[in-house]
Amino acid sequence: MITNLHTIAEVAEINTAENLRFKEFLKAYDSDKIDALVFTLNELITPQIDCTSCGNCCRSLMINVDADDAARLSGHMKISSESFYKKYIEQSSQGTLAVMNAIPCHFLSDSKCTVYEARPKECREFPGLHQPGFTGRLFATFMHYGRCPIIFNVIEALKTELMPAG
Ligand code: SF4
Ligand code: SF4
Repeated sequence: MITNLHTIAEVAEINTAENLRFKEFLKAYDSDKIDALVFTLNELITPQIDCTSCGNCCRSLMINVDADDAARLSGHMKISSESFYKKYIEQSSQGTLAVMNAIPCHFLSDSKCTVYEARPKECREFPGLHQPGFTGRLFATFMHYGRCPIIFNVIEALKTELMPAG
């Protein structure tokens, strides 16, 4: 298993064409069978990776924050909702979209989340390999292949299981 972030980024570059082929291969595969395989691989691989010494998603993703997330985070930080939005959030002009206004995330310190119990739903769900519908999320999942060791290793294991030789 590869967990070094630089190595993963390098291998991701090398594997660009192979991953495009693999994505096409997965699209044509039975989606329930892929989900079952991904769940198994995810359960095998995730416990072997220490997110608290990685934090790469928190250094590179734009995090959506909905009203419930904002209420939970501002409560956790004991500040008003107005202060929270002003300091940490960028909203679309219609107010329908709200994202954390800094990448890396404001709340990342020494590769750890300082608001872990109150973190946004999107952070709790990432990298999402426990959710059904893997083949409907190929674009987003492969986008993170070169930065998330869990995704990288699950996909490499999936290739070993499924990819036709050559
Ligand atoms: S809130 Fe926490 S888990 Fe979410 S991106 Fe920020 S540091 Fe990472
Ligand atoms: S989810 Fe992936 S990118 Fe984020 S900390 Fe864990 S291994 Fe690293």
